[in-house]
Amino acid sequence: MQLQLTPAQQQFRDQVRAFIASDLPLDIREHLRMGHPPRKSDVVTWQRRLHARGWAVPHWPREYGGSQMSDIEKLILQDELFRANAPQPLHFNCTMLGPVLIEFGSDAQKTHWLPRLANLDVWFCQGFSEPGSGSDLASLRTAATRQGDDYIVNGQKIWTSSAHLADWIFALVRTGGGSRKQEGISFLLIDLKTPGITIRPIIGIDGGHHLNEVFFDNVRVPATQLVGVEGEGWKCAKFLLGNERTGIAAVGFSRERLRHARRLAERIMQAGRPMIEDRRLREDIAMLEAETRALEITQWRFFASSAARDDRSGAYASMLKLKGVELQQDISALLARIAGPESLEWRSYEGAADDDWTAATGTRYLFLRAASIYGGSSEVQKEILAKALLG
Ligand SMILES: Cc1cc2nc3c(=O)[nH]c(=O)nc-3n(C[C@H](O)[C@H](O)[C@H](O)COP(=O)(O)OP(=O)(O)OC[C@H]3O[C@@H](n4cnc5c(N)ncnc54)[C@H](O)[C@@H]3O)c2cc1C
Repeated sequence: MQLQLTPAQQQFRDQVRAFIASDLPLDIREHLRMGHPPRKSDVVTWQRRLHARGWAVPHWPREYGGSQMSDIEKLILQDELFRANAPQPLHFNCTMLGPVLIEFGSDAQKTHWLPRLANLDVWFCQGFSEPGSGSDLASLRTAATRQGDDYIVNGQKIWTSSAHLADWIFALVRTGGGSRKQEGISFLLIDLKTPGITIRPIIGIDGGHHLNEVFFDNVRVPATQLVGVEGEGWKCAKFLLGNERTGIAAVGFSRERLRHARRLAERIMQAGRPMIEDRRLREDIAMLEAETRALEITQWRFFASSAARDDRSGAYASMLKLKGVELQQDISALLARIAGPESLEWRSYEGAADDDWTAATGTRYLFLRAASIYGGSSEVQKEILAKALLG
């Protein structure tokens, strides 16, 4: 099993580093380094530059604008982006919808959508969850009834991240029944400008507007926007959720934030001495560094072995999601501790000065509480792991 980069992989990593150093705008880098989430314009600008280099959708086949990279190269690229405080390509487009279209979409859908997704000409959001249908996603009730060449959609989605920024939504809808609730679900692409759609903000505990409710009132959707077979959308959903979970681990992000925390602790003075000289703090940082390294090795094992393609891949994805999120939360708590009372003062990072790193500590800490819910809650991941372990 490979735990060290081969010379070719090192060369690739160096190419990525050089590209980021020359092409990532400084203001975006600084904004992220201070702990702020990327703005929409940051993601669009950077994804287009990455795409021009062939790296926005590295895992897609070449014929669709990808580079057909191996899992390891993809991981190297992702880690380098985190390391340099560069935005990641938009997950909804690149790791969620794109692969679903490649696997289940028609030729016309691939030709139309894949180039637009890769270049972020269109921003998609994910319309899966509904009130009462989150962990138990297959119980969803938003209905799509066939009428001539269209579906008429009625119902509600909730917790829809970035719907207020998005152009389109990929949604799971119920088109029929069956003996199992997973049957009769379909996967539709819907233009958010279609009459009958209302988007209502949900303001988070961090004061930020990331989430929304999306209402559908007799929304007419051309049947050509169905992906895959009517009633078999659950296959698309399962395929997509596996990709989502692995991405959420974001080990490279934890590593970068931890490095940032250590640098701050070395610089900030407390009672006349750098904070890092406090033994308790030093021990806590060392413990988090060890845990991050351990998860990094687990991630390498996952991608370097055939596990990424075998039956256990769901359990590995759950393990990475579960532990990856715990680390992100612990590191956000560490940063809030280093910021001290200033992290308690609630200040929105929307509009905070780019060099104001304490503004983001309290808000990021609060926002990351939600990380053990989105992409499948921690309890549900533990259930999946228990089943895999106990059979
Ligand atoms: C910040 C954020 C962003 C999100 N973004 C999106 C998005 O863009 N698109 C989208 O579609 N959804 C999104 N979601 C929704 C997310 O996927 C759901 O919130 C999640 O799946 C949990 O569902 P729920 O909220 O209905 O909670 P429930 O499923 O009702 O869970 C409630 C509690 O019960 C526990 N529980 C449920 N089932 C089990 C079980 N079988 N065993 C043990 N415990 C269980 C859960 O762990 C949880 O603690 C987002 C959520 C958040 C918080």
